[in-house]
Amino acid sequence: MNEAELFDTHAHLHFPEFADDLSAVLERARTAGVGRLVTIGTDVETSAAAIALARRESGVWASVGIHPHDAEAADEAAFAEIERLARAPRVVAIGEIGLDFFRNLSPRETQERTFRRLLDLARRLDKPALIHCRDAHAETLAILAEVGVGQTGGIMHCFSGDVAIARRCLDLGLTISLAGPVTYPNARALPEVARFVPGDRLVVETDCPFLPPQGHRGKRNEPAYLALTAARVAGLRGEPLAAFGAQASDNARRLFRLD
Ligand SMILES: [Zn+2]
Ligand SMILES: [Zn+2]
Repeated sequence: MNEAELFDTHAHLHFPEFADDLSAVLERARTAGVGRLVTIGTDVETSAAAIALARRESGVWASVGIHPHDAEAADEAAFAEIERLARAPRVVAIGEIGLDFFRNLSPRETQERTFRRLLDLARRLDKPALIHCRDAHAETLAILAEVGVGQTGGIMHCFSGDVAIARRCLDLGLTISLAGPVTYPNARALPEVARFVPGDRLVVETDCPFLPPQGHRGKRNEPAYLALTAARVAGLRGEPLAAFGAQASDNARRLFRLD
């Protein structure tokens, strides 16, 4: 493959699913053109693991945060530790953080409180926020507007809304990230979103090991498959894959303050 330079803005490479063959996974990623990625923490333990991986592997950076599913388990010590980890080298963002009213694994109030605290951390450290939002667009966008997320910037990861929601995210200063679901035959509004978002506000991700693109569904996702998602988005936009990949990578590097 290797037709394009690609940046996977959201992976969980330090998760146990990759423990046995991580070097082969990274090798396949590089062969597919995915030379840079951010591996994303979801609680204290996985945030520390993300940093450890980023320190070992070139082209890998880390993000630290508390996922809405894990909000209820986070005590004061956890917030203090996330803040300490956020200042470590190779940490380029705060996330993933946000609201998930689909699974509701933590009470909504706890999710909102955790989300606000970590948005405040992102503001204080001037790092972009990586936002998880499922079945909670109204509440998530209200909080993001209130805190002025545009100051630090951020990514709506695995964007699942429609064009109207995408427009509101752009108005708040956010970048939109498309993942594997844009390749699915039942992708609903996502193809329209892929065409709508301006080229300088769009990035791509795998969210691996979750959400593999069409052709790999039901299996473990990995960064190499980002090429399939990127090709689909480029095709929807009527752009050559290489040009789309280069611009999306530039967007990611700018947002993460790399180079
Ligand atoms: Zn997520
Ligand atoms: Zn994720």
